[in-house]
Amino acid sequence: MAVYNYDVVVLGSGPAGEGAAMNAAKAGRKVAMVDSRALVGGNCTHLGTIPSKALRHSVRQIMQYNTNPLFRQIGEPRWFSFPDVLKSAERVISKQVASRTGYYARNRIDTFFGTASFADERSVDVVCLNGMVEKLVAKQFVVATGSRPYRPADVDFHHPRVYDSDTILNLSHTPRRLIIYGAGVIGCEYASIFSGLGVMVDLIDNRDQLLSFLDDEISDALSYHLRNNNIIIRHNEEYERIEGLDHGVVLHLKSGKKIKADALLWCNGRTGNTDKLGLENVGLKANGRGQITVDEHYRSEVSNIYAAGDVIGWPSLASAAYDQGRSAAGSIVDNDSWRFVNDVPTGIYTIPEISSIGKTERELTQEQIPYEVGKAFFKGMARAQIAVEPVGMLKLLFHRETLELLGVHCFGYQASEIVHIGQAIMSQKGEANSIKYFVNTTFNYPTMAEAYRVAAFDGLNRLF
Ligand SMILES: Cc1cc2nc3c(=O)[nH]c(=O)nc-3n(C[C@H](O)[C@H](O)[C@H](O)COP(=O)(O)OP(=O)(O)OC[C@H]3O[C@@H](n4cnc5c(N)ncnc54)[C@H](O)[C@@H]3O)c2cc1C
Repeated sequence: MAVYNYDVVVLGSGPAGEGAAMNAAKAGRKVAMVDSRALVGGNCTHLGTIPSKALRHSVRQIMQYNTNPLFRQIGEPRWFSFPDVLKSAERVISKQVASRTGYYARNRIDTFFGTASFADERSVDVVCLNGMVEKLVAKQFVVATGSRPYRPADVDFHHPRVYDSDTILNLSHTPRRLIIYGAGVIGCEYASIFSGLGVMVDLIDNRDQLLSFLDDEISDALSYHLRNNNIIIRHNEEYERIEGLDHGVVLHLKSGKKIKADALLWCNGRTGNTDKLGLENVGLKANGRGQITVDEHYRSEVSNIYAAGDVIGWPSLASAAYDQGRSAAGSIVDNDSWRFVNDVPTGIYTIPEISSIGKTERELTQEQIPYEVGKAFFKGMARAQIAVEPVGMLKLLFHRETLELLGVHCFGYQASEIVHIGQAIMSQKGEANSIKYFVNTTFNYPTMAEAYRVAAFDGLNRLF
């Protein structure tokens, strides 16, 4: 067995692993990266964030082509198949892999492709894709092995009509009717994608409200627009069993209902990729969701083993994973790049898009904080009218006495970009965090950012 020595070995090349590897390498450490896939980028690039966002982008373009009267001059509305739109996602994936592969080369990080498991606290064995086994010895390890869809034993994922968010990317036809089981972020995003392609979607929610962590008004707006796009949302439902047929799938619900569709997409939960890591060889144990427990420095109970990204659980976002990985390496190299990542915006790429940061109205009311609301509706804004994107709203929540910005909630065109302006102001200390910023600053015109000015005036006008 070949043996290699490193300062830091990173397991997993998703955003968490990449953030850790780059930070450690830039601090002068000798770094190796191991990934069980033959290409870097992690599940984020190959199965999760990137393909779903690329799919959504193409679907939005198709929807615009089919609904904007301008395009009728060049042709009638057209129907596109799922495999057609998937092709554009594949192009993005390969471009992402190419750029990310370049980062490893440029930073002199060795890459190993195979499945890593701990032999002891100082070494991992890598069963390479060519069958060879290699030993990597290191002073520190960062586990960034991510997560995968949770697959309950009583659902037959080998049935050709039952998919999860990984296998849906192998769908080679366009179902006429699709059941999406699980109405979390991934379920809602895929519901938007498929309904945008004209598929009739039944979205099954275990709860009584979609994405209940959102501000109620935003959650209500999402429900309205998903319904408007022909999605049937069924709340408070749980599966009894899933019956795969030759020509369809029947979902039997505990409430006694039965729903039939051409395919079922399971979007109910994820589990950390820890089962192949040999954690028992280093005295670590994953929790019931396959996740590793870490402290604020992303250090596990074994002092030289760190973990970041989906494998540590909340918030299970690529955005946070990258920063957590960088912070984990920051703890190792002690170069002041550590920070505990706890203030993460929400970015949800449904149709319409949603993004928020800070407190919701519900939270502020519960905490008895005297707040006021300012809103800007996109339908009245020049940039949204030009872009033919009338759906959406920016809502600012601020303290009615100090004018401190407490929450930013947005849905509609560019919501995930717009939120960052509010985030920048919210992160200011003292009086610099004030809604007044938006009325005392000149915004480009026409922009979506101008919504802050409109919403701030709306809110300030309510004060007495
Ligand atoms: C459909 C979908 C859409 C999403 N959309 C968004 C979004 O819009 N925005 C957002 O911020 N987040 C989104 N996410 C979440 C995001 O993809 C994850 O939070 C992110 O991928 C986590 O990154 P990570 O670095 O922890 O691990 P991952 O990206 O999961 O990568 C882990 C890597 O480790 C490898 N690995 C696993 N076990 C081993 C082993 N034993 N040895 C070696 N390598 C191993 C895996 O093969 C994989 O390549 C989405 C997720 C899904 C499923």
